[in-house]
Amino acid sequence: MGLIETVERQGFLTTTVEDLVKWARKSALWPMPLGISCCAIEMMAFAGPKFDVSRFGAEVFRFSPRQSDLLIVAGTVTYKMSWVVRKIYDQMPDPKWVIAMGVCTSTGGMYRSYSVVQGIDQFLPVDVYVGGCPPRPESLLKALMFIQEKIDRERAIIIDEQGETREIPKVPQPPVSIEDVVQEIVES
Ligand code: SF4
Repeated sequence: MGLIETVERQGFLTTTVEDLVKWARKSALWPMPLGISCCAIEMMAFAGPKFDVSRFGAEVFRFSPRQSDLLIVAGTVTYKMSWVVRKIYDQMPDPKWVIAMGVCTSTGGMYRSYSVVQGIDQFLPVDVYVGGCPPRPESLLKALMFIQEKIDRERAIIIDEQGETREIPKVPQPPVSIEDVVQEIVES
């Protein structure tokens, strides 16, 4: 009996709360676009109909840090601007992720200048660096997929009364996972 048949017949499926939360997080990332210079044009193409980031569930560009969980920094960051970038990052709720798009953002690029930050990892925790000047929209899509994989690998932890952390013991895999069901629906 196939998965869809199983769900249709039994009317439910089993999974873990952790898997459900991870699936929801990775399937609905809301980017906060920070298009500071020319890389922003490629970021716009990433969201446009040709490259269509909505295939990955991340098309809801919020332009408000309080409603976003994925910061995409696209462009040359000067020291003067870095305070603004950091403030926007701080205003985003946890959990949140950061993509450094382009060589300028990742390393300062060709701007070996006193005014340009030589990589935003000097003041932000970066999850994925995207090389290129400018990177193609496909590269940004790949970065998004890396973030989704990273979310998938995350494990919940428990912080006890003494402040010690420990991992939640792994539970046996459920007989039917949400990914399996979604995959079967997509293929049918
Ligand atoms: S990496 Fe190239 S395209 Fe991107 S902001 Fe720097 S100079 Fe512009």
